Amino acid sequence: MSTDRCKAMIRTGWHKYPCANQAKRDGYCGTHHPDAAEKRRFKAEARWAEESRIRNEKYEREEYDRAAGVYCRRRGMKREELV
Ligand SMILES: [Zn+2]
Repeated sequence: MSTDRCKAMIRTGWHKYPCANQAKRDGYCGTHHPDAAEKRRFKAEARWAEESRIRNEKYEREEYDRAAGVYCRRRGMKREELV
């Protein structure tokens, strides 16, 4: 049982081959165990959410700067005067 190979199939483009790692738990190696796959997906989602948050923040700041610039020009104010 301890000499079993991981039962995961790896896909690279059109090719599909079995994982060469030794099974550690539930017939999967540490990399392909569903728990590990779930964790990877969760991490990827968290990273994506963080990236999109940063993008939104940047966009909002740019929008604000643009609006503030227009506001100041209309009133003949300096950008620094607007707090
Ligand atoms: Zn594996």
